[in-house]
Amino acid sequence: MSEAGSKPIGAASMDVVVVGGGFAGLYMLHKLRGLGFSARVFEAGSGIGGTWFWNRYPGARVDIQSLEYSYQFDEELQQEWQWSERYAPQAELLTYANHVADRFNLWPDIQLNTRVTGAHFNEDTGRWAVETDKGDEVTCRFCVMATGCLSAPKGDAELPGSETFRGDSWHTGRWPEAGVDFTGKTVAVIGTGSSAIQAIPIIAAQADHVTVFQRTPNFSVPAHNGPIDPAVVADWEKNRDAYRKEARETGFGIRYVSMGEQAAHEATPEEQKAAYEERWRYGGFALLGAYNDLILDRDANATAAKFVHEKIHEIVKDPQVAEKLSPKTYPIGAKRICVDTGYYATFNRDNVSLVDLTEEPIETITPAGVKTGVEEYPVDAIVYAIGFDAMTGALDKIDITGRGGAKLKDAWSAGPKTYLGLMVAGFPNLFLVTGPGSPSVLCNMAVAIEQHVDWISDCIRWMGDRQARAIEATEDAQEAWVAHVNEVANTTIYPFANSWYLGANVPGKPRVFMPYIGGFPVYRDKCNEVAAKGYEGCTVAA
Ligand SMILES: Cc1cc2nc3c(=O)[nH]c(=O)nc-3n(C[C@H](O)[C@H](O)[C@H](O)COP(=O)(O)OP(=O)(O)OC[C@H]3O[C@@H](n4cnc5c(N)ncnc54)[C@H](O)[C@@H]3O)c2cc1C
Repeated sequence: MSEAGSKPIGAASMDVVVVGGGFAGLYMLHKLRGLGFSARVFEAGSGIGGTWFWNRYPGARVDIQSLEYSYQFDEELQQEWQWSERYAPQAELLTYANHVADRFNLWPDIQLNTRVTGAHFNEDTGRWAVETDKGDEVTCRFCVMATGCLSAPKGDAELPGSETFRGDSWHTGRWPEAGVDFTGKTVAVIGTGSSAIQAIPIIAAQADHVTVFQRTPNFSVPAHNGPIDPAVVADWEKNRDAYRKEARETGFGIRYVSMGEQAAHEATPEEQKAAYEERWRYGGFALLGAYNDLILDRDANATAAKFVHEKIHEIVKDPQVAEKLSPKTYPIGAKRICVDTGYYATFNRDNVSLVDLTEEPIETITPAGVKTGVEEYPVDAIVYAIGFDAMTGALDKIDITGRGGAKLKDAWSAGPKTYLGLMVAGFPNLFLVTGPGSPSVLCNMAVAIEQHVDWISDCIRWMGDRQARAIEATEDAQEAWVAHVNEVANTTIYPFANSWYLGANVPGKPRVFMPYIGGFPVYRDKCNEVAAKGYEGCTVAA
């Protein structure tokens, strides 16, 4: 890593500031440099890689197969990189991010350990003034927020008494680099979302005892992870372009989740079971693609949910525990399905117990452990797997002001409003990568990120070619897009869960369905159409 990029830049002027050094920020920087723009990435962490830098908890890995969850903008990069496992672990993903930064010599324009605290649009100059916690004051024409959808961990302060706990505690999204040895420890894991489901089997294999505190059970399907199959890799390499294209034509940007042609009710119960069984054996999100109406029709959806309930009861020996682990209050898929390695079977271990927080809610964290309405559970360590203030959390932490000094936080007080998830009315020359209102977390994010970065780069180049000063979404176009995002969401099963897609996991957060569920191809075509029509729905100031 070049040191040049780690020193505060102080007062400076450039074309573009990029906030965030995850997969989005890295590719954004590469594109901008290729187009001849001066740019700098500010990254709060002491390393790049975003999600894969921060989430080092045991078992952290992708839930989309690595062959698909990777950049595709550079042919040689694709050819030279080899994944070791079907679902790459965090450390390998982090190495991959660093390899990309090395390969494209990105380091000189990346400033680590630097949090952007404010970004203010100056209407007189048509430029943004960006401030950091290291005292940098940078002006730029364009500001790109590559701050991540799942990069603002929810605080353990939400649980009263957490500051009094005498043992060690960690949030899965801020895991120490040195790792944690749970040998001989009694551990509380609070939360049963994706991170907990990946971590619990590994912690349980190490610790003396693990108590899992579950508020809402999640649907989880097996990953069947293991060393990547050389035959699969060979086939992928031979057909990569075609497979990548196929993936980009699926709603979720994932080739192996391509939807079945049939609706669930067109199949007999026996055929349904066989179809689900086949996809369960394949592993991962494939299950949801068994029929074309599983995310649209609640009855169809219930057939897949029932299949997973039966699987949980098959795997978990104690029928009461199995029942508690079976999600019954929302459709399968309405919360992101988890992809696990031995999660349900972990509850057959003698050293693992489950506390159902719907029966005994947590009252407080005590110096000794976790106290519910029923009893106190003394533990040596607490793992907070309580998730993120998704999609808006990282942006909320930055003081962003647009035209007339309006604050983004105020503009979004009733929920985030964007045009295509890319721009916000009243905030000229500000772009969001995978912002609310785009497919983002409902898509293979590697695919979503590249599409956004390409679109933003094209827009910036277009502005440069015309020497135009400012581009901004109109209120009307934004309102129409927000209405469309909601309308599409309401035709699906997604709003039937209290999920982080809706902001329901953060007390006081407005309930708005944030990602766009119309499917990646529909969305991409819309973005392309907007650009082809001279950025329809935007005002462009000369
Ligand atoms: C545990 C976990 C597993 C996941 N697995 C998958 C998966 O399998 N498939 C998938 O498609 N997606 C997955 N995701 C989503 C994942 O976030 C994206 O795939 C992708 O990594 C996002 O990249 P990004 O660059 O947009 O954001 P991030 O990787 O979140 O990077 C954003 C960066 O911005 C920095 N930042 C934020 N605010 C500031 C600020 N004010 N100043 C400076 N820096 C700032 C953060 O420190 C962070 O490093 C997962 C997410 C998590 C948390």
